[in-house]
Amino acid sequence: MIDYKWTKELEKEQIEEYIEKEKFKFKDSNKPVFSIDTPPPYVNRPIHIGQSATYTIMDMIARYKRMKGYSVLFPLGLDRNGLPIEMEAEKKYKISILNTDRKTYVEYCEKLLSEMSDQTRKTFKMLGISFNEWDECDCVGGLYKTDSEKYRALTQKTFLDLYKKGLIYLDEKVTNYCPGCKTTLADSEIDYKIADSLFNTVLFTVKETGEKIPIATTRPELICSLGMVVYNPEDERYKHLEGKTAISPIFNKEVLIKAHPIAKLEKGTGLVMMCSAGDYSDIRFFMEQNIKPIMSIDISGKMNKNAGILEGLTVKEARQKMIEILKEKNLITEQKTIQHKVPICERSKDEIEFVSLKEFYLKQLDHVEKIKELADQINFSYAPTKKIFLDWLEVVSIDWPISRRRYYATEIPLWYCKNCNEIILGKEGVYQKPWCENPPIDSCPKCGGKEFIGETRVLDTWFDSSNTPLYIHKYGTEFFEKNPVCSLRPQGKEIVRTWLYYTVLKAYLLTGKKIFDDVYIHQHILDENGNKMSKSAGNSIDPQEIIKEFGAESFRLWTAYEGNLNQKDFKCSKERIKSEQKTLNKLWNVARFIGQFKLDKEITVKYNELDLFVRKEINDLIIESDQAYKKYDFHNPLLKIKFFLTNTFSSHYLELIKSRAYNQEDYFTKEEQMGAIDTLYYCLNKMLYLLYPVIPFTTNRISKEMFDKDLDEEKFPDTKEYFSKLTLEDIEKINNAIWKEKKEKGVSLKEKVSVIKITNKYKYIEKDLIKTHNILKIEYKEESEGTINVEL
Ligand SMILES: [Zn+2]
Ligand SMILES: [Zn+2]
Repeated sequence: MIDYKWTKELEKEQIEEYIEKEKFKFKDSNKPVFSIDTPPPYVNRPIHIGQSATYTIMDMIARYKRMKGYSVLFPLGLDRNGLPIEMEAEKKYKISILNTDRKTYVEYCEKLLSEMSDQTRKTFKMLGISFNEWDECDCVGGLYKTDSEKYRALTQKTFLDLYKKGLIYLDEKVTNYCPGCKTTLADSEIDYKIADSLFNTVLFTVKETGEKIPIATTRPELICSLGMVVYNPEDERYKHLEGKTAISPIFNKEVLIKAHPIAKLEKGTGLVMMCSAGDYSDIRFFMEQNIKPIMSIDISGKMNKNAGILEGLTVKEARQKMIEILKEKNLITEQKTIQHKVPICERSKDEIEFVSLKEFYLKQLDHVEKIKELADQINFSYAPTKKIFLDWLEVVSIDWPISRRRYYATEIPLWYCKNCNEIILGKEGVYQKPWCENPPIDSCPKCGGKEFIGETRVLDTWFDSSNTPLYIHKYGTEFFEKNPVCSLRPQGKEIVRTWLYYTVLKAYLLTGKKIFDDVYIHQHILDENGNKMSKSAGNSIDPQEIIKEFGAESFRLWTAYEGNLNQKDFKCSKERIKSEQKTLNKLWNVARFIGQFKLDKEITVKYNELDLFVRKEINDLIIESDQAYKKYDFHNPLLKIKFFLTNTFSSHYLELIKSRAYNQEDYFTKEEQMGAIDTLYYCLNKMLYLLYPVIPFTTNRISKEMFDKDLDEEKFPDTKEYFSKLTLEDIEKINNAIWKEKKEKGVSLKEKVSVIKITNKYKYIEKDLIKTHNILKIEYKEESEGTINVEL
């Protein structure tokens, strides 16, 4: 019996109890496994409202699947590798990768990680998210770390497996280079910004005729890397130049002039200087025309010896100096500011340079078609998100550069024989650091040499994080053999081309199969006006504050209620979250009301059509919710459950059977009375089960106190078929007609009804109607005779 009111404090005891007991430890049993490959958040940022909402939806899925009899694998990874950690450490301890030795640098990163607060984990726990323990994954407290020895050993194993399959190769190619992060980047790590640039019209000379030709460029410092001059085939102005030779100013390099569609009629002067490493189109052009690129920028972001007089200057300095020299010689005829798209590093926002470097590549171009086929085998819960994935596949244009020149990440497990350069592979299953450790062999198998050089490069962070389903499914073990496909990948749309794509690709290259059954790409959370939330805009909402103010379960209810899969984004405001407290109150008050009635098990119950009606309604709701939950849709069922709770059940059924349940004047038989009480408990019980995945703490509290059942251990309810001759419409019609009449006459709802004319079907619930509405006389008529007539 519950005799107190619902408050947000109630859930706290429940949550604390759940944290202490670590109830949901994963066990590899005979039950089928349902696994959720959660996105590992970065440890050094407090979780935001969007993460709170999306992990809460994942928790609803986990709880629902447990109820459906699955052994649910739902761990949380913490992403602790790579640039974000290094950048944070450089800032905090004022170090730089350029002047700190590697051992010390790594120690600083580890120090940073050890000093980080436990806030991420705490916030998730306070939301009641049931991440689970699994000792075999080093998954303490439901968390695993992507920089643990076990995790990094797996990353190295996947590298070695792919290497042995011939899918990884070393090659010197022009590649994206971020001067800020001082490392190679994959195309998927590039963003674009619109920037102002100075567009300089520079005069070149035609060798054969001495004609001066104007070429506009934003990057005059790259004139030293000139490979060709082009104009559009349609451009009448320059047709006479076809096949002639252009001489570059200052550097006096002679190159061919040719028509090519890459030049746009309307852009600049119509003539374009093609320089290696100006932008993407230049790089492709050089490959296509088979011209050897002349790289003039080195990895420190400075001009190299190919840049002649500009050698040693940074790109910006070189651009300035080049403009000065050209101006001195009167070779610039026009300068204007234009806006154009500039590739930038997704992380540090530095402008990307293109440099030629030897890096390890993972083959992906050969497998694009196969990945498209796999995409058809994966079920995307929201169809448009599949398009993001497929669109990315269309633009994959080079293999994936996977090596990085950084320190705090997983090392490439290779050594080289100092004598013959033979490659020595690391040992599988252990974490190895070739930059400071010896190889697994004593002498070179090829030449017998005894000295080795360890590889110093590390792997791209996406090469690490694309292992998450392999890690939680224990790739390489019997558990993986039994469970080679992860059930669900939930994630944000901004990392489809990176995390999702790389995970699908890598698993395919390793196993030849799809790695996910389902992919759930969630929406972004916007403020109530539809604007993106951010700290700087002042419209962000701190999840910690929300929990403190309204309780975790109001937040959870709101998440389910707003998380409509078919909508692009969902809107958030404190008011909306607060209003969900009303729903919790309603459920609690209904339970408190029902709790005052005692069910006498000695008496045979007798249900009337009203009881059968409400039983049918709740059973329909169970079927519908089950089908929707299966598709990770909590929004649509929630709308219906809320309607059932507040309207069908509370406003109509409860009102109509109150007198029967109390039965103070023994107007009803004991059997009839028990029919109502039994149905009250029945409906409440089913509602608790239906709402448990969404609000586990309130529902479980009621369930334990009133039904002595721990919902954490319970199965999703079975359904039973009920038939009723009455529909919701019939019931609403009669109640509303009488209440309306009484309200209009300004009398109390308890006031008598002298006579009411109603159709025959209401005869089934005659006694309930008489007692509820205080009816003195009922006249029955045929269905065809129309509406209800009430006389007070
Ligand atoms: Zn960068
Ligand atoms: Zn050797």
